[in-house]
Amino acid sequence: MNYKIINIRTSAQANPRDAVLIIYTGGTIGMVYDEDGSLMPFNFGKVLERIPEIRTLDLKLTVISFPRPLDSSNIDYRDWQDMAYIIHENYAQYDGFVILHGTDTMAYSASALSFMLHGLNKPVIFTGAQIPIGQIRSDARENLITAIEMASEKRDGVPVISEVCIYFNFLLLRGNRAQKVRSSTFAAFESQNYPILAESGIFIEYYFNSLLPHRAESHLELKNKFDPNIAILKIFPGITKEIVEAILSIKGLKGIVIETYGSGNTMNYPWFLDSLREAIQRGIIIFNVSQCSGGEVIQGRYETSKLLNELGVIGGGDITTEAAVTKMMFLLGNESGTAHIKELLTKPISGEMDI
Ligand code: ASP
Repeated sequence: MNYKIINIRTSAQANPRDAVLIIYTGGTIGMVYDEDGSLMPFNFGKVLERIPEIRTLDLKLTVISFPRPLDSSNIDYRDWQDMAYIIHENYAQYDGFVILHGTDTMAYSASALSFMLHGLNKPVIFTGAQIPIGQIRSDARENLITAIEMASEKRDGVPVISEVCIYFNFLLLRGNRAQKVRSSTFAAFESQNYPILAESGIFIEYYFNSLLPHRAESHLELKNKFDPNIAILKIFPGITKEIVEAILSIKGLKGIVIETYGSGNTMNYPWFLDSLREAIQRGIIIFNVSQCSGGEVIQGRYETSKLLNELGVIGGGDITTEAAVTKMMFLLGNESGTAHIKELLTKPISGEMDI
């Protein structure tokens, strides 16, 4: 990939306090209106022009820009591989990383990177904006400046954050716990099943009980394979046998994230359970997540979920759909053996679920 590298001349003295690498992938933050009035991604030069204050930070700042900035609706696992590769290649030279990214799929990308960057012990902070930086009421300035500050925050020389996070609208959330829940207010993200990691006001307050602890001895190892042969099956009252069977018989399918009701309940019609049983016997992995954004899947709590346990459906606990999808693609790409992958699905990799 033909990255563009921009070194930002800050007012820092010869030896700036710390170094932060910004990876610009695109998103509303850097978009401009085209002739038809639609928003489209623009290059990082425009973003910089709008935040001259960035040059006053006592930091070494470098920007690596994707050659063609993307609306994050167009992002896929190859872009996650690019983001993770850039971090891995530059890991030793920087104290922290900020990824500018569209909000639409930010929770997927943050989840994916949290699995790929094994042994991470520096901050990786995703951020973006709901209004482009060129607009007067944009939320981009605050999001970007605070994300940079968090990415360089240390106590006694030790990074405060050692994980992949999303910073948005004054809140720092664990990346693989976050979901985009609103498209028309600034509070776009929430993390229903995990406490916030930090809050920015006059001061930034870090919640150390929720942050992953820093492990000085760990080494970054990049695991960058994905298998995209999975599907999401969201059940709804009246879903037909034909639809369920069509999805379960997709050629090459390896896994399904099934979005069920409440605490993991499905219809217990015989045809439905037979379809799941038959798919599991063919080696398809079925991972059960809830359609509710808060709470958890407890297979066996109701009669309508008890049979799922017997069939071999894997309960996803309190994992989000975004983390479940990326975890399944990640495990199918990097591990082998159905039983082994099923086992790994139930265990947290980087704080994405409680056990
Ligand atoms: N469609 C945009 C994107 O995800 C939305 C945003 O950035 O807020 O790239």
